[in-house]
Amino acid sequence: MQSCESVVKGEKEMTTAKTNEIPYKIYLEENEMPKEWYNVRADMKNKPAPLLNPGTHEPMKAEELEQVFCKELVKQELDNDTPYIEIPKEVRDFYKMYRPSPLVRAYCLEEKLGTPAHIYYKYEGGNTSGSHKLNSAIAQAYYAKKQGLKGVTTETGAGQWGTALSMACAYLDLNCDVYMVKVSYEQKPFRREVMNTYGASITPSPSDTTEVGRKILAEHPGTTGSLGCAISEAVESAVSRDGYRYVLGSVLNQVLLHQSVVGLETKTALDKYGVKPDIIIGCAGGGSNLGGLISPFVGEMLRGENDYQIVAVEPASCPSLTRGKYAYDFCDTGMVCPLAKMYTLGSGFIPSPNHAGGLRYHGMSSIVSQLYHDGIIEARAVEQTEVFKAAVEFARVEGTLPAPESSHAIKVAIDEALKCKETGEAKNIVFGLTGTGYFDMYAYESFNNGTMSDYIPTDEDLQVGFATLPEVE
Ligand SMILES: *Cc1c(COP(=O)(O)O)cnc(C)c1O
Repeated sequence: MQSCESVVKGEKEMTTAKTNEIPYKIYLEENEMPKEWYNVRADMKNKPAPLLNPGTHEPMKAEELEQVFCKELVKQELDNDTPYIEIPKEVRDFYKMYRPSPLVRAYCLEEKLGTPAHIYYKYEGGNTSGSHKLNSAIAQAYYAKKQGLKGVTTETGAGQWGTALSMACAYLDLNCDVYMVKVSYEQKPFRREVMNTYGASITPSPSDTTEVGRKILAEHPGTTGSLGCAISEAVESAVSRDGYRYVLGSVLNQVLLHQSVVGLETKTALDKYGVKPDIIIGCAGGGSNLGGLISPFVGEMLRGENDYQIVAVEPASCPSLTRGKYAYDFCDTGMVCPLAKMYTLGSGFIPSPNHAGGLRYHGMSSIVSQLYHDGIIEARAVEQTEVFKAAVEFARVEGTLPAPESSHAIKVAIDEALKCKETGEAKNIVFGLTGTGYFDMYAYESFNNGTMSDYIPTDEDLQVGFATLPEVE
């Protein structure tokens, strides 16, 4: 705590003398919130590859996608050209309940590290879902409601997406059917109960309520489920009933579009103080928070206006960008979803059971994959004990208990700040603090009592997943 005193004193002096000094929290006014999402695809020379029909391997047509997804969301999914898309007023009004989210200057962490670097983080944990996922949940639920649907179906793993969607559906009076990976359903009763409170109906997956669930149960009795399997069930449950569509919390282009609100607010806040980031860091599971955070900055890079170093951080135990293949793959285990071209470990890849830190999806957003493939962003893989070490260090000085997912970004932000300490450079480091970790206390417990271990898959392990890649020409 002593470490922060000088900063606090500095701030007091500053209020009288240097009014343009950067505050701990940069808030925006309501009228400074974005009114449009930014669609980075419009500025990409190499567009992300189209989704393919899993049967014919032809690009998915809007009519086909509309069987699964809401009409307006299909339009957004396929729109590679419109740079700005209006955020409906109803969605903006919902955003106002928990946005704009603060951009925090991590003065205390800087002082603790003794770094000349300036560290900022965009904090998305200030709503009940505890993460950025609400930004897309409300948009997707809004379009479902507008289409006159009865409800939506989805999957959830750790539960953040299911929680966010439950909140959005409760607000708009839509049914919300969540297929929750069985192991999480059993191990995370509190998350489950939050969703119940918001009126969602929750089924542990695999279940006997769908054909694909029954098939997976027959083939793998006693399985505790996976995200890919829950996706298959949720899709089947949507397409086999009238008035339902499926919604997804990450990976898709539409989700990255909605999450651009994070990057746009970040940029407005930094611009207010004339701060230009040198490094922008985000954790990468399906790529939605990272894609949203970096979109406006990548847009400037693509238009040749500015240059930034952008780092995607993933777990060493689920390294889709750093060790995956850039190929068309199934988005789900049941192989009912369209094929997406992405960096992937194969839909048959299952992360090691000791992996506690989230970000366990086998693939990556097509947009993020294309940007990585084109060398516009870089990627790093980090081990989970290092991630939790960074999480605890951050929690103790910055006050917020971070989600394990977010802590991947913290780890690399700290690494970069320590590099600055060696070189004496005062770089501006910006990272996405995507959420809080209150529902991840088993993971924290295993770190705190020293039983957490690291597991890095061998090339042979990865081969198992690669063998499940479809052949697409
Ligand atoms: C879901 C989630 C992530 C990872 O998802 P992306 O789509 O890669 O952003 C990261 N952090 C938190 C807190 C999450 O809930």
